Amino acid sequence: MSFSSVIAQNRVKTVLSRAFKEQAIAHAYCFYGQEGIGKDALALGFAKLLNCSNPQQSTSDIIDACNECKNCKDASRLEHPNIMFITALPSGKANAKHDDSPLLQLSDDILAIYTAEMRSKSDDPYHVIQLPNAQTIRLASIKEIKKHVRMSAMQEGRRVFIISQAEKMNMESANAFLKTLEEPHDNITFILTTSKKDALPQTVISRCQQVYCDIIPTQDLIHALQTRHHMDLSEAQLIEAFAQGSYGRALSYLNEDMQSMRSDIVDLLRSALKRKQYRLDFLKQLDVITSDKDRTMLEMLLRMLALWIRDCHYAVQVPNDLSGIINKDQLESIQKFAQGFPSADYHAILHMIEQSIEHIRRNVNPTLVMLTTMLACREGFLLNTSEYLDHAPKDHVI
Ligand SMILES: [Zn+2]
Repeated sequence: MSFSSVIAQNRVKTVLSRAFKEQAIAHAYCFYGQEGIGKDALALGFAKLLNCSNPQQSTSDIIDACNECKNCKDASRLEHPNIMFITALPSGKANAKHDDSPLLQLSDDILAIYTAEMRSKSDDPYHVIQLPNAQTIRLASIKEIKKHVRMSAMQEGRRVFIISQAEKMNMESANAFLKTLEEPHDNITFILTTSKKDALPQTVISRCQQVYCDIIPTQDLIHALQTRHHMDLSEAQLIEAFAQGSYGRALSYLNEDMQSMRSDIVDLLRSALKRKQYRLDFLKQLDVITSDKDRTMLEMLLRMLALWIRDCHYAVQVPNDLSGIINKDQLESIQKFAQGFPSADYHAILHMIEQSIEHIRRNVNPTLVMLTTMLACREGFLLNTSEYLDHAPKDHVI
């Protein structure tokens, strides 16, 4: 989890390297930006650099930890005494002592999950720690920080406290943390990471140096998926198109069979566009597709549909240059499809799908949303064709 294993983020790495070189390290940082872009990874990489015995010039602008010294090895295992990684935890067991450390307060089962999750985090800093009922960064965790801060004067090196998903501090925790933040400390750095900076109290934010972290550029994300997950180019491109610059989001798609989901939704579209007697097949398919999907999956399906249709539009507009097509493995099929609907109103269709995604997010009945979307596609694709005018469903009731 040194800087070299953080995907992209060169601007942030450069800023932090410069601070390191000039020994102008801030007392507190807030790394903010979208989910899954590597904020924790940057924080862990920086913490490692700050404790490394033999930092290396990685590029002309970036200094990185050596990954060889004992400090680096301990940091890699998240076992360095100077580096504390704080995350949301569930409430302690009923007989927990109030003054116990937050981990001692956990039941044995939860502690075992916590240990396994921290191991996953040390293996891959992009791993999102998930513990049952862990909604809050607990006051006990902040008290633990204070305890370590008091002891830090006796220790060598720079102590780094990383508070991951810092917006999960409740008011009590945030107030207690603010007091620590207000006190001057030598050789201590706090790093808050958050994708919801606005949810943090302004009093906390204003005491941190704020570091915006960018989304991951397309090529970097595709490259990471290919090298870290041995994907072929077309699969990596498809996942990247949905991940929108977030490696974390891309990881959540790895277990989904993207290609079969795409063929399901495109088949549904084809059924909806049948010239005659489309209703029966269409309704059956619609039922199958929506029955076992939660809202996240349905949103993904709609995004796949929008990308497919966007590609058709692209194929119509720029028939001689198909480099901008995202579903590259489907070029021929996309071209054929697009040729079949020369007068389609692509803007109206894509706009409608965006609205449908909003409706899915707002808990509108999923079957209704999918049905309306497909009927709008039918209208948009078959518009101005005699088939549509002859067989147009009256007021969209089928
Ligand atoms: Zn080192």
